[in-house]
Amino acid sequence: MPAEIVTPQWMIEQGFYPTTAKRLFAQTMIGPVPPHCPHLGVCILWTGGLSGEGYGRIVIKPRGNKRTTAVHRIAWMLANGPIPEDLLVLHKCDKRTCINPKHLFLGTDADNHMDKILKGRANNIMQKLTWPEVRTIRRLRHEGWTQMALAEKFQVNQKTIWCILENLSWIEKY
Ligand SMILES: [Zn+2]
Repeated sequence: MPAEIVTPQWMIEQGFYPTTAKRLFAQTMIGPVPPHCPHLGVCILWTGGLSGEGYGRIVIKPRGNKRTTAVHRIAWMLANGPIPEDLLVLHKCDKRTCINPKHLFLGTDADNHMDKILKGRANNIMQKLTWPEVRTIRRLRHEGWTQMALAEKFQVNQKTIWCILENLSWIEKY
């Protein structure tokens, strides 16, 4: 579901108390466009309470069970449904307080670690390839090319290819 149609009313229909839905939307502000993935558009930044690690948090009471939850996880669920067990909701934009569902993706702990390493190399990746090449890489992968073969053809390392195929860099605007 696109972010645009996630409204307080829709959240209420998903089982949130009206106060929770209103609170979520009252405590956000429009942030900057992430410089390393401008096609994603602006961040929607949480202005409410934060966890020790700097993630937005909120107390919710879905169906009466009161608990503290990360706001970006709620945002992902509102846009996409339940989060599979053991998966994290990660930020493409690197802004921990961002709750724009378009900036969020699911991953494991290992992905999170890899993402941080790869983001550090994003500038190099952006300079080495062009958009037509990136689209060719994605098309060839669909046609059965291995990551290794793609890395060799385009003279980049395999992690660069992985990063593109996992949509961690060169994110298409849909
Ligand atoms: Zn963001």
